[in-house]
Amino acid sequence: MASQKMLGFVHTAQKMPDKRTAEERRQDFAEIYARFTNERANEQANRCSQCGVPFCQVHCPVSNNIPDWLKLTAEGRLEEAYEVSQSTNNFPEICGRICPQDRLCEGNCVIEQSTHGAVTIGSVEKYINDTAWEQGWVKPRTPVRELGLSVGIVGAGPAGLAAAEEMRAKGYEVHVYDRHDRMGGLLVYGIPGFKLEKDVVGRRVQLLADAGVVFHPNFEVGRDAELSELRKRHVAVLIATGVYKARDIKAPGCGLKNIVPALDYLITSNKVSLGDTVEAYESGSLNADGKKVVVLGGGDTAMDCVRTAIRQGATSVKCLYRRDRKNMPGSQREVAHAEEEGVEFVWQAAPEGFTGDDVVTGVRAVRIHLGVADATGRQTPQVIEGSAFTEEADLVIKALGFEPEDLPGAFGSPDLTVTRWGTLLVDHRTKMTSLDGVFAAGDIVRGASLVVWAIRDGRDAADAMHAYAQFETERVALAVAAE
Ligand SMILES: Cc1cc2nc3c(=O)[nH]c(=O)nc-3n(C[C@H](O)[C@H](O)[C@H](O)COP(=O)(O)OP(=O)(O)OC[C@H]3O[C@@H](n4cnc5c(N)ncnc54)[C@H](O)[C@@H]3O)c2cc1C
Ligand code: SF4
Repeated sequence: MASQKMLGFVHTAQKMPDKRTAEERRQDFAEIYARFTNERANEQANRCSQCGVPFCQVHCPVSNNIPDWLKLTAEGRLEEAYEVSQSTNNFPEICGRICPQDRLCEGNCVIEQSTHGAVTIGSVEKYINDTAWEQGWVKPRTPVRELGLSVGIVGAGPAGLAAAEEMRAKGYEVHVYDRHDRMGGLLVYGIPGFKLEKDVVGRRVQLLADAGVVFHPNFEVGRDAELSELRKRHVAVLIATGVYKARDIKAPGCGLKNIVPALDYLITSNKVSLGDTVEAYESGSLNADGKKVVVLGGGDTAMDCVRTAIRQGATSVKCLYRRDRKNMPGSQREVAHAEEEGVEFVWQAAPEGFTGDDVVTGVRAVRIHLGVADATGRQTPQVIEGSAFTEEADLVIKALGFEPEDLPGAFGSPDLTVTRWGTLLVDHRTKMTSLDGVFAAGDIVRGASLVVWAIRDGRDAADAMHAYAQFETERVALAVAAE
């Protein structure tokens, strides 16, 4: 077994005098570790039974050819495995790191169904593609010929970036507008670095720039240009702006200091890890160091907050959620990680108010009983009379979910139709919104979802935009010829 070899190496090294320099030791370890991860990937790839009913592929939103690249990995044909892997996914090493595989590919592996534990598909995907980067196999996808047409993409999250890569490869001049200073959307400013290293996102953004994609940072559509202006500049426009309006809690004391929205907290933490100086972090209002932290909510964002707070040096971290463990929207794997790291979960508890004069000192909460299931099949939370209690807190982080912003208002486009949830209404066959030539993809269409779904949407939208641009070009050419 690879892991035993690895342990053997460490054991021997501890006992024997070592004449190597620190640099030589580092190099040796890097080599051994590379061999170890290689063997581990191989071992996992070999476990795939090539069952012929690839449920893993069916349940992967980008329909990755998982059995094929597992087979190639098992045979040591890594470059070919990489070619297959990248043909369906723009950011495979990112998905390998942060997809909730237990709910997608791995959760549907037939070996998992037969109780022998799924092939660790995500880690093999990460391994193949990290190797491709190390070996220099990953190249910018420059087009064979330029089409002389440009497209505009609003939002540089995974949906916008996947569409940008696809459109550039087809030969379009691609302009990506984002209101942040860095490209990547929630990949860079939402998901913490301990789950997704920022240089892994950065090298992808650089690859797109090398392919010729033009980025416009600090450009907010609605402030720096209206949507109609962008539409005039480009043959087609994609809206991929995500969902950012945080759900809030209205309760006594909710205006106290140190009660903060999750994304403000995570953006600050990510900026600091990228080397920025953020005043709110320095002053302590968005920094958990030395604080008793209470996080409200039970989704993946809440898990990212509790785990970030632990890393920042909080003295205690508690997570209040009104349902029980099995009804949590967040990944069970994330909950397990959080528990291992020392987070305490307070299940079936709902906040009712906050204590403190100027700065928060506690969360007042009540215990919840889960009653009969409602029409959606979920048990209705009911307050248990006389169960009020207070959790001490110096920092309260609200992670209660996200909703779309008012895009028609912000973009100066009242004709942009939204659903009753505020997401953009698109024709699901064409990805086009109610505005001609304006498409949409990612969370702004689905509501808060997953990176891999955003990638899928971005790819689908690119296909539709390409078809639209070709039709339009033909229509204009015919009209000119007819004059
Ligand atoms: C804290 C957190 C953790 C998560 N963890 C995971 C995870 O582990 N795994 C997973 O699969 N998913 C995770 N998700 C969900 C995932 O990040 C999203 O589903 C995905 O990023 C959506 O991609 P998107 O491209 O639609 O939008 P986003 O990534 O939100 O990108 C939208 C971009 O649009 C820009 N923008 C918005 N409005 C404007 C405007 N008016 N003008 C210009 N630019 C604008 C924003 O600045 C942003 O860069 C997480 C989400 C959060 C909040
Ligand atoms: S993209 Fe996500 S769901 Fe698809 S194979 Fe990779 S880890 Fe699994």
